Amino acid sequence: MLYNEEFETLPRQALEALQLKRLQSMVARVYASVPFYRQALDKAGMGPDSVASLEDLQRLPFTTKQDMRDSYPYGLFAAPMEEIVRIHASSGTTGKPTVVGYTHKDIDTWTELMARSLAAAGAHKGDIIHNAYGYGLFTGGLGAHYGAERLGASVIPISGGNTKRQIMIMQDFGSTVLTCTPSYSLFMAEEARAEGVDFRNLKLRVGIFGAEPWSEAMRGEIEAKLSLAAIDIYGLSEIMGPGVAIECIEAKRGLHIWEDHFIPEVINPETGERVPEGEKGELVITTITKQGIPLIRYRTRDITSITYEPCICGRTHARIARMSGRSDDMLIIRGVNVFPSQIESILVGIEGVEPHYLLIVDRKDNLDTLEIQVEVDERLFSDEVKVLQTLAKRIEKEIKDMLGVTCNAKLVEPKTIQRSEGKAKRVIDNRKL
Ligand SMILES: [Zn+2]
Repeated sequence: MLYNEEFETLPRQALEALQLKRLQSMVARVYASVPFYRQALDKAGMGPDSVASLEDLQRLPFTTKQDMRDSYPYGLFAAPMEEIVRIHASSGTTGKPTVVGYTHKDIDTWTELMARSLAAAGAHKGDIIHNAYGYGLFTGGLGAHYGAERLGASVIPISGGNTKRQIMIMQDFGSTVLTCTPSYSLFMAEEARAEGVDFRNLKLRVGIFGAEPWSEAMRGEIEAKLSLAAIDIYGLSEIMGPGVAIECIEAKRGLHIWEDHFIPEVINPETGERVPEGEKGELVITTITKQGIPLIRYRTRDITSITYEPCICGRTHARIARMSGRSDDMLIIRGVNVFPSQIESILVGIEGVEPHYLLIVDRKDNLDTLEIQVEVDERLFSDEVKVLQTLAKRIEKEIKDMLGVTCNAKLVEPKTIQRSEGKAKRVIDNRKL
């Protein structure tokens, strides 16, 4: 369902004209109000009105997460503090978080884009949205919340945690839409099973999952275990929060990125040059309407590709492919590039293997080693040891054949690997220690 038909179906030419106008005004605004950008633009030989066409975007400087850290907390804000009505921050793995501020208009835009996203996923007025994204500094909870209200749905602000209670509420309140991380949805399915609750008897119809990369194989697993349509949503706090891009339920092929507010580019992370349509690279996003903290060519470090091909749903906005990982999640094992999501795809496709796994990378005698701890169906543990050995060998062989990486598969009993109510931890790299 289209939430904002006019903007979601803008013909390409009109969309690009709007992007150019908005880009020009944004560049002029940050040149005038953010010293960091005035310096960076001067250095690139660009002024407040040097953008004459969308092609000129490529001449603008990049913004990195490090730039945001260096200007902690408010250095990149383009609006005065009196106009900032909300502050969010993303948890950094090290040190200080990345801080973002929203004006009234920014919150309004975010709400609209989240409403569009929920509608694209098949949610509508009358739905009961069980929002299990964390509420707090993390943008997930509040972002989805406001969008759900704007859509006219009933939102249950349950947040993360207390999984037994989540399942009881989903049952009793008749939740029809679930929003959380994909790994948490599988944890819920597991807990429900333990409680004797069958997801097929719940009213859930759609699940909107994001905040961590997940594979197509994982989608199959979630859809089977939770008995719903699983939709991929994308967002990051630096750009806005959830609702930057979403799959439409009609096609479930690529995520529409809301191009009237964001200009996406896909670049080669090494050279910074754009890659051709359809080729993989790092996603770079320029925000063209944000007031609080507009960003020019923000390097998301997420790996994807982009297509401008028309979609059967009628939306004209470009689609980015399901994220295959973050450039900083990429593991290099004996010279081979591997994303945890690739390993996940293989594991999920093997009968008897559960989608809970942990990758442990180490270095022994100057050689990288990869151990994959993965849970298997409890019934297998009651079988002969030989069955488990055969399964471990099969995992090792499939990973070697498909990814070219030698690994050691360690099969563990169900519920051995720590569960997460937010983003799952998939990798322990002991080489850095
Ligand atoms: Zn579509």
